[in-house]
Amino acid sequence: MKIAVLGGGITGCSAARLLAADGHAVSLFEAKGRLGGLCASSTIDGFVTDHAGGHILFSKDKEVMDFMLAGLGTVGYHTSKRDTRIWLRDRFVRYPFENGLCDLRDEDRYRALRDYIVAWHERKTGTPSPDNFRDWCLWRFGTGICDLFMHPYNSKIWNVPLQELGTAWVEGRVPDAPMEDVLKSALGQHTAGYVHQAIFHYPLTGGFESVVHGIAAGIPAGIVRLNTPVRELRRVGGSYVVDGESFDEVISTLPLAALGRMLEGVPAAVRDAFAALDHVSLRTVFLALDKADAPPHSWIYFPDKQDGPQNRVTWLSNYSPRNAPPGKSSVMAEVTWYRERPGTEAETTEAVVAGLSAGGFFRRDQILFSRVFDVDHAYILYRSGLEAHLERVRAWCAEQGLHVVGRFGNYSYFNSDMCVRAALDLAAKFKARC
Ligand SMILES: Cc1cc2nc3c(=O)[nH]c(=O)nc-3n(C[C@H](O)[C@H](O)[C@H](O)COP(=O)(O)OP(=O)(O)OC[C@H]3O[C@@H](n4cnc5c(N)ncnc54)[C@H](O)[C@@H]3O)c2cc1C
Repeated sequence: MKIAVLGGGITGCSAARLLAADGHAVSLFEAKGRLGGLCASSTIDGFVTDHAGGHILFSKDKEVMDFMLAGLGTVGYHTSKRDTRIWLRDRFVRYPFENGLCDLRDEDRYRALRDYIVAWHERKTGTPSPDNFRDWCLWRFGTGICDLFMHPYNSKIWNVPLQELGTAWVEGRVPDAPMEDVLKSALGQHTAGYVHQAIFHYPLTGGFESVVHGIAAGIPAGIVRLNTPVRELRRVGGSYVVDGESFDEVISTLPLAALGRMLEGVPAAVRDAFAALDHVSLRTVFLALDKADAPPHSWIYFPDKQDGPQNRVTWLSNYSPRNAPPGKSSVMAEVTWYRERPGTEAETTEAVVAGLSAGGFFRRDQILFSRVFDVDHAYILYRSGLEAHLERVRAWCAEQGLHVVGRFGNYSYFNSDMCVRAALDLAAKFKARC
């Protein structure tokens, strides 16, 4: 079969490789001059940085993990223990927050525990789960934890009123500590909490993008078309015409809303559903530091605005011993935005540096250089009602024989391992059909 794969991120590269291995005539269209998509990385003066925030390699899916690690054969990888913290005013609190109550000041710990118990009691006596994220947090964690962490942190990351978000996405995404853990942690006994991702890998060199390169190395020559943005997609009989060229099948990993705009003949109701799929964008600020002693943490969450605009900071030099030259370290801050960029690159960098240097994470004179990367599609915006739009769009695409996969390709809250899983499943589906 002649197959067009749209997009050269990890989903498109995995799909192209697997389908080509099964004997299909595959063409992979990538708008940019490089493969990688959201997994892109750069190496600048011996410092490695991921563009879309620090990426870690982990999966509960053995087949997927083997597939991803196999590509790192020559590069190798470094394994770390996840050590994450929340920076709250003047102190580190262990993550997840409910497992770190012992790190809070006495008055905060009391409030957090009291309100957690009140919320727990109300849930047990039948108060139904609210359908907006703001109230769901109150229902699940109580006012104390919401005031201290859940509400400010989530407001920072989503950039829209939390009442506008639904709750369908929280399962498996918002850590959910049992009462016993919360009681123990409030009494000073540390509990582990979220054990998923306890151990993670990262390529020794080249940043997370090396994972995609490892996969793409298995794509035969002549398949990848870089600098080839797809502009038009038309269904003609049982085939698809991609910018004038005919294919039996199309696999799209492009953001669904963009796909909707390039398709011809979409019914008005479906077009509206495509247009309702919204997203949050990301600006990352990378700082190369003339400082050997990075904190031992993998990453740190920053709920409070007063500590800077970043919601998360990753100590990238901890991910691989080759991510920074000897005696140096590096850190990357993530600042999300919705529709409007958060000022100029220089303004964002200054705000991040002001927050982090005031917190004592480094001194200004230790900064060797900085880089800013903007990522348009970073997070799916889970507005209430999104599921109905998504259902309509996915059903219509399925009717049209259009395969939509990947994080924004399918509008699923996927990490890279789940993207690979989707590609493996799709290839298996094609195999079963042929
Ligand atoms: C802040 C953040 C942190 C993350 N952390 C992790 C992590 O720690 N671990 C993990 O496993 N995952 C993580 N992820 C998720 C991971 O980045 C994604 O799941 C994965 O990279 C998505 O791959 P994809 O191929 O589906 O999409 P993308 O990577 O978005 O690929 C789509 C491709 O399509 C191309 N394209 C767009 N329009 C066109 C067009 N018109 N024509 C041709 N090509 C086009 C783009 O250039 C891009 O290359 C994180 C994501 C974010 C935003």
